[in-house]
Amino acid sequence: MSAKTNYKSLRGMPDILPPEAFFRQFLEQKARILFQRFGYEEIRTPILEETGVFTRSIGEDTDIVEKEMYSFVDRGGKQVSLRPEGTASIIRAYIEHGWHNSGDICKLFYLGPMFRGERPQKGRLRQFHQIGVEIIGSTHPYVDAELIVNIKLLLNEFGINDFTILINSLGCAKDRMHFKKALQDYLSTKDSKLCDNCRRRAKINVLRVLDCKNTMCREVVKKAPNILSYLCDGCKKDYVQLKDMLSEMEVSFKEKTDLVRGLDYYTGIVFEIIHPLLGAQDAIAAGGRYDALVKQMGGPDIGATGYAVGVERLLLIAKQDTKVSLKRLLIIPIKDEYLKDAFLLARKFWQNKVSCDVDHMKRSFKGQMRKAHKEKRKFVAIIGEDELKQGKLLLKDMETGEQELISFEEAVGRLTCRDRACPCP
Ligand SMILES: [Zn+2]
Ligand SMILES: [Zn+2]
Repeated sequence: MSAKTNYKSLRGMPDILPPEAFFRQFLEQKARILFQRFGYEEIRTPILEETGVFTRSIGEDTDIVEKEMYSFVDRGGKQVSLRPEGTASIIRAYIEHGWHNSGDICKLFYLGPMFRGERPQKGRLRQFHQIGVEIIGSTHPYVDAELIVNIKLLLNEFGINDFTILINSLGCAKDRMHFKKALQDYLSTKDSKLCDNCRRRAKINVLRVLDCKNTMCREVVKKAPNILSYLCDGCKKDYVQLKDMLSEMEVSFKEKTDLVRGLDYYTGIVFEIIHPLLGAQDAIAAGGRYDALVKQMGGPDIGATGYAVGVERLLLIAKQDTKVSLKRLLIIPIKDEYLKDAFLLARKFWQNKVSCDVDHMKRSFKGQMRKAHKEKRKFVAIIGEDELKQGKLLLKDMETGEQELISFEEAVGRLTCRDRACPCP
């Protein structure tokens, strides 16, 4: 057996390194605080589920189920898959735990990795991360308005303002049936003008043709029947109520009648948030109603809606804005003989919730100061004979250059992070 010497992470599944991992935590923390404000509670479902959870919900004919899921047979002979998205597992959990029996609305949020074997590209990985919300138990379009307001505030929290909210309605199952039929009839006359993929989609998953980026297909779609003219009175009313409420709440949006979602389970109101930095293809967030899914998964006939934000895409836009750094204070002994005192001082700071560390690399005083500069430390605490005698430390602000001889207690007061959204320990 030959020993393989250089292992690498799998394609499309990169390591998340510092400082990016810290920045992600920072975003997640902001999201958690915002979700709390809305009364959404966190749910953590397993990463691995029975394959049926996804095939039954997402749909057999979707790209995800057909060719992107990581599926395998486990040691017990069960067909299992890594979750390609969050909604299916949450609905499975909702039904499994009998939450529908409470007769109340259920508002959940989740954060975590999802897996799809796509061709990796910018902002699109095989292990990618989503932040999402699901609200189960109501068909009221105001719930969708709430979600859209929630996303808007979430993106604002991340310092992202330059986005566009797109909305559409796909109608209920009946409306969709009529529309699909009309679309199929229309496309059957344009067969030669569609890409190979769409010629196939036109038969099995016709709505996806509306989503094709091929220029020829775009042309064909322009003159295709409009979903909004196939909505029943109920769906029309819901859609109007959503639009009125969004206007009332001063949320600007655009209607996009060819907006569809890649998963089969969507019905009624759908929405997407796009950002110019991501180009025409990529949405930062997307969601909508899936009123038929709970029943389809074996639960009662109740409404549900949700959205998910793509964290990797978010990072493409939000990354530049960060100034957070975990490494704030370095404690520097003037001479090696005070290292022990420096270390004991660090322990006192740790116990008092101040983040700090000491250098364990036997560097000179100058070397340690260089390290502090290089790491952009906000502060250094210098200790030597004088400081120790007085029971004080010399706290230097590395940004302003100001330094002060102060007591430990004063230093704690100065160094405690007061930013509630900052995950710094
Ligand atoms: Zn309808
Ligand atoms: Zn096409």
